[in-house]
Amino acid sequence: VEEVLRQSQKMEAVGQLTGGIAHDFNNMLAVIVGSLDLLNRRLGADDARARRYVDAALEGASRATSLTQRLLAFSRQQPLNPEVLDINTLVPGMSELLAHSLGTDIRLETVLAAGLWRTHADRNQLENVVLNLAVNARDAMPEGGRLTIESQNAFFDDRYSAANFGVPAGQYVLIAVSDTGSGMPADVIAKAFDPFFTTKEVGRGTGLGLSQVYGFVKQSGGHVKIYSEPGVGTTVKIYLPRFIGEDVAAEGITARLLPMGE
Ligand code: ADP
Repeated sequence: VEEVLRQSQKMEAVGQLTGGIAHDFNNMLAVIVGSLDLLNRRLGADDARARRYVDAALEGASRATSLTQRLLAFSRQQPLNPEVLDINTLVPGMSELLAHSLGTDIRLETVLAAGLWRTHADRNQLENVVLNLAVNARDAMPEGGRLTIESQNAFFDDRYSAANFGVPAGQYVLIAVSDTGSGMPADVIAKAFDPFFTTKEVGRGTGLGLSQVYGFVKQSGGHVKIYSEPGVGTTVKIYLPRFIGEDVAAEGITARLLPMGE
């Protein structure tokens, strides 16, 4: 529990700092992009070389803009817009997007549990989280491999929940994303959720993917854990609270109708 608190305080502090910086950068980038656009319009058709320079500058500025947008999104801790979700339809609905992100050398496998409970979470952000994990998995498998997305009903009793997970005992929906990639040594696992922690080269990784995953899962009342072995692969397990609503009430009624004790 202490660890969870420390992590969220760290995220909040870093979030505020980056939010301010990203906001200022965004404004400065707008000036740069605007001026480059004007310059582009003034260049004649015969200024091919100057145009190339301007295009290169514009491309750099647009990459910088997309980074500051991500930073802003991260620091804002976007408000959640939760809805009742069935992971077993959400994941197949992403298959095209996932296939596109994974390329041809990575096989995508889904193992979806029958009778899966529903959860209550923000659909867009959850899809983003799954995509973040898939992209990390892809980066860990440069030679190709297998990405598995699994769903399962999960139950934490008191013994396992409070002590080990920092979430209340109860019923959760598990989404596990596994890869057959490089894996992570213990010191990387320990820092993986930290904002801006990355082992990727400059320009490739921002170190925000897993901290976004962490922020989303915590905000949703869930839990996330990394299991990884260097040279074997990585599994990231996300537990989201089971949606307890009308369908559970209906189940209760069905139970009463069963011929019990006859
Ligand atoms: P980024 O992907 O931009 O580096 P993340 O926060 O998503 O940022 O990940 C942080 C670090 O955790 C990565 O740089 C990498 O070292 C490690 N990591 C994350 N996912 C995996 C994975 N599936 N396999 C191996 N290492 C991983």
